[in-house]
Amino acid sequence: MADNNRTVFYNTIKVPLYPDAQQKELFQKTFGCCRYIWNQMLSDHERFYFETDAHFIPTPAKYKKQAPFLKEVDNQALIQEYNKLSQAFRNFFRNPAAFGYPKFKCKKTDRNTFSACNHVMGNSATIYITRDAVRMTKAGLVRAKFPRRPRSGWKLTRITVERTKTGKYYGYLLFACPVQPPKPVPPTEERTIGLKYSVSHFYVTDNGVCADPPHWLRRSQHKLAAVQEKLSRLQPGSQNYQDLVQKYLLLHEHIANQRRDFLHKESRRIANAWDAVCIRNDSLQAISGKMGGSVIHDTGFGMFREMLRYKLARQGKQLLEVDRFTPTTKVCSVCGSVNEGLSPRARRWTCPACGAMHGRGKNAAANIKVQGLAQCQAPQAIC
Ligand SMILES: [Zn+2]
Repeated sequence: MADNNRTVFYNTIKVPLYPDAQQKELFQKTFGCCRYIWNQMLSDHERFYFETDAHFIPTPAKYKKQAPFLKEVDNQALIQEYNKLSQAFRNFFRNPAAFGYPKFKCKKTDRNTFSACNHVMGNSATIYITRDAVRMTKAGLVRAKFPRRPRSGWKLTRITVERTKTGKYYGYLLFACPVQPPKPVPPTEERTIGLKYSVSHFYVTDNGVCADPPHWLRRSQHKLAAVQEKLSRLQPGSQNYQDLVQKYLLLHEHIANQRRDFLHKESRRIANAWDAVCIRNDSLQAISGKMGGSVIHDTGFGMFREMLRYKLARQGKQLLEVDRFTPTTKVCSVCGSVNEGLSPRARRWTCPACGAMHGRGKNAAANIKVQGLAQCQAPQAIC
């Protein structure tokens, strides 16, 4: 909470960056240095812990003597790596099941990114935006295209620079936006919706609506297969081969963009249309493992849940999460009796106790809604 009853929300504006050759080289070095320092700090932490039983992460300054190339890049980016690693350890010690032990970074698989915080002193700032550029330490003015501009009162606090696998550069500008806190909207039964995650429909609501998004990956599968087949006939390393690899990566990027676009629009629609959303916090990793992986990855339900959470919160609305082990599928939403004999494949079933007819997803969504609302009305509930 900030002064005079205002609260701070954070907004990110993603801008395409067009660095020149020199700036590209500097960015590339920064990505490498960030990976280097992360791995060094992580391995030293392990050694210290092994020798002394104490947790200690050395600061980036310590490494500059042994690795003078670190001085070539923005020191803020290195400090951010230190902060991220400290945070990763804090998360791990607080909740090891959810976060896991920090891992070493690898050039091949990890994203090429670095972040730097904005330091404002009087009238000058280390990072600021102009009409068509972002000014950064070391890199100077980097040309950028702004899809939208920050509103008045927004403060630029951090930038993250990313180079995608297809060679595009993006800047993620994080703004602190002081706003009047939204008025809390108490959930009511009529204005609350229950969502059940479904592998085949994405989600099913308690009134029986299925999302059924297009299968982006499946739709483009023939294009991907055609490129792969051509690739297998070309000489690896040749210009044609590299061009085709780029085409392949662009296709994948396009599919990811289609998916994200759908998730944003769908979560916005639900967050605006309802006062509260009940959802079960399923471990998608566990479901994905059971199903063999790719299907769940295709849908992005985890991302959808996070989008719903913040889009609701900004309107003072709630995402009511039901524990992942709460039985919802086998329970009859009419009489509450448990149908232990329900086959995992049955799409529709009739309750043996009361005779009600159920659609599998719709019934589970109705149970999730009841559970979510009950949690909310319970006195000790956090919501
Ligand atoms: Zn029943």
